[in-house]
Amino acid sequence: MSSSERINEVFYAHNLTGARLELVKQICIDFEKELSYLNEQLAIHRLDPVGWSLVYRFLSQDNFYAEVGKCAYVPKNYEIRISLGVPATVLSVAIELISLQVDSESSHLGKQYDGSSCSVESLFPGVTSASEIGGAATNLALDVCLLLYFHEVAHMVFGHCDYRPRNSKEVRALEFDADFNAGSIFGSWVMGLPSAIRRPSSSSELVERLIRAAFVLGVIFKAVSRESENYHYPSVRVASFMSGGVFSMTKNGHAPEFSDDGEGDKYWEQIVRDVQAPLLDALRRSSLSRFSGTEIEIQRDWDELDSVTYKVRNELKDGPLATLRVTP
Ligand SMILES: [Zn+2]
Repeated sequence: MSSSERINEVFYAHNLTGARLELVKQICIDFEKELSYLNEQLAIHRLDPVGWSLVYRFLSQDNFYAEVGKCAYVPKNYEIRISLGVPATVLSVAIELISLQVDSESSHLGKQYDGSSCSVESLFPGVTSASEIGGAATNLALDVCLLLYFHEVAHMVFGHCDYRPRNSKEVRALEFDADFNAGSIFGSWVMGLPSAIRRPSSSSELVERLIRAAFVLGVIFKAVSRESENYHYPSVRVASFMSGGVFSMTKNGHAPEFSDDGEGDKYWEQIVRDVQAPLLDALRRSSLSRFSGTEIEIQRDWDELDSVTYKVRNELKDGPLATLRVTP
């Protein structure tokens, strides 16, 4: 799916040559390898037994686009459509944010954008050699792609594809539900990735990877959405992904258990703050700074999540979605 010819055609407007072409091609190949493995596991363990199916298809588009929906009018058959622009855009944002972190080895790549373009639109224009890109950016990018795939899987598995939201509160509630469950899937499946170097070597690495991937995905969602104001800010979305991640990691024995909920919340909030801080700092100095939100906007967003989104999500989950989801 990722021959140089196809990549060149899809990204024609980006004038990809040399190292930049090579990097886009490689991230597409690496992502598809993990995606095809995990999608097969999903079919074997969850979908086949109940007569559901999910296929994926890569679209020849250079923009960031991913959606899950019904497939060919066959009931319980779904399809995830992902543009080739997804892995490319994610890598571009990962490269910029990693380069802007303090003490980054690729700090010269933090200054690729002059104010007229950003890392979502323009794919690492300053890169001249693939060796400039360290494993940190590539691994982060792959984690973000996986989290997006899990987010789409969650929309399907939990019945969202067959429900039509009635207002923007319900749209946000479905997004929250997909984020929570994507975090939960990330917390258990990433441990079983096919390539050993991609499997976390400790529970704390797993937690850190989820937080970082959730943050970057939140940035991109905010940056590419036409109805951007409908989406929560990146740091607020991290909390949604993390609550799902903590849920599954605790269940699988990869996270400490707390008898007191408040104590557990405090413990996780501190970890999220610590891991997120360098990325938030990098974002505020990046070409995507306007998507970070001010302290006031973020606080208002938290209030909305607490007072509306949680409640609407629980009503949908216990109501119309209860009969639409995959049941074992
Ligand atoms: Zn979604």
